[in-house]
Amino acid sequence: MFDIVVVGGGPVGACAGALLARGVPAAAGLSVALLEPRTPGAVRADAPPDARVVALSRASERLLRRAGAWAQIPPARLSAYERMRIWHESVSPSSSEVLVFDAADVGEPNLGYIAESRALQVALLAAFAEAGGHIEPAPLTGLTIGERDVQVSTPRGTLTARLVVGADGAQSALRAAAGLSAETRAYRQTAIVANVATERPHEATAWQRFMRDGTLAFLPLADGTSSIVWSADDVRAASLSGLGDADFQQELDRASDLALGRTRLVSERLSFPLVRLATQRYVAQRVALIGDAAHVVHPLAGQGVNLGLLDAAALAQQVLSAVAVREDAGALRALRTYERWRKSEVAGMAMAIDAFDRLLAHGAGPAARLAQRGLSWVNRSEELRRFFIYRALGMSGELPEAAR
Ligand SMILES: Cc1cc2nc3c(=O)[nH]c(=O)nc-3n(C[C@H](O)[C@H](O)[C@H](O)COP(=O)(O)OP(=O)(O)OC[C@H]3O[C@@H](n4cnc5c(N)ncnc54)[C@H](O)[C@@H]3O)c2cc1C
Repeated sequence: MFDIVVVGGGPVGACAGALLARGVPAAAGLSVALLEPRTPGAVRADAPPDARVVALSRASERLLRRAGAWAQIPPARLSAYERMRIWHESVSPSSSEVLVFDAADVGEPNLGYIAESRALQVALLAAFAEAGGHIEPAPLTGLTIGERDVQVSTPRGTLTARLVVGADGAQSALRAAAGLSAETRAYRQTAIVANVATERPHEATAWQRFMRDGTLAFLPLADGTSSIVWSADDVRAASLSGLGDADFQQELDRASDLALGRTRLVSERLSFPLVRLATQRYVAQRVALIGDAAHVVHPLAGQGVNLGLLDAAALAQQVLSAVAVREDAGALRALRTYERWRKSEVAGMAMAIDAFDRLLAHGAGPAARLAQRGLSWVNRSEELRRFFIYRALGMSGELPEAAR
């Protein structure tokens, strides 16, 4: 019998597990089991950077510290970025029309970090185990929700808990087993991800170019190379994926307008079809969904993990507070508060991201031209720039206590 079973040990599930198992000064930690059938191996010190990386906000950094995971990410797998340069293809990358967000403008040392996904997950799973959490290397195969507890079946046996947390990603088996429905919509775009060496240094800057047929980002890595995330319409992405390395590099140089000079691939290329997913309910009796199991957004703003980590912290805060006043860890009152809180924050962010995609990365017509010009207007207003920088830092909205 556990207080909580978390299904899925990706970054979001592992973070929820670590926060719940550690507790907070006002509330002791809970007994937590985590199901993860594909635990990643440790990252070899001499391995080149992984092709999958995520941009972590300041809010995420803070709650990863609280989860005991931050110090376990090897420094070589983390890269601070100090600036963002954002522009539309209608202007040149060196033009004064380029929108620049600089951490120095708000007195911060950086805007966040680019972290290798695997190193982040390994660090969080280690933090979870250190906090006394139990890792069950098995998938969820069945669920029985009762009045007083919930039973979670795996090929290795059945675990009983007060609450089951679904953090098993976009194809969540827990979501289906609990009968929570999700609306999905294909963007009809594919993201191509790879690491590249560039002729000019990345200057600890995240570069993002909006084009009429997609978005291209260069995220700075610790070894001087950059991770590209190139979102293009499916047909274009398929033709790019079919190219040999030399031809792909040439297309990439054209798409980047040589913002960082010529590029050279230094990793494999990965492709991710992009979908938007939103669940109607995040909670049901003795069930809560977090991260991609509850919502999937377009990666152009690099917010998926950041939103999921905030879900994890908000849920942990509600559950720990309920237990501190002797309520059940699966008490529906706490779950509903979590749902209201996070659903409205996520909906706001998802709407903003879709508007960027529609107007900046695909737009034609007057509204799109206005939005494209809007980038340089924001650049000219210190107040607007600061407003957006605080959003990039993740320091907006109602933050869980662990992220403040
Ligand atoms: C191209 C691209 C770029 C991105 N860039 C960024 C970025 O810069 N910043 C950012 O914040 N986000 C980014 N994202 C989004 C981010 O990758 C996801 O939001 C994030 O991985 C979600 O984490 P999660 O833990 O919820 O789910 P996942 O990472 O999908 O983890 C789910 C876990 O559940 C396990 N699992 C699955 N089924 C079962 C089962 N039946 N039983 C038990 N366990 C199960 C899986 O093995 C997996 O470990 C990007 C996404 C894409 C596609």
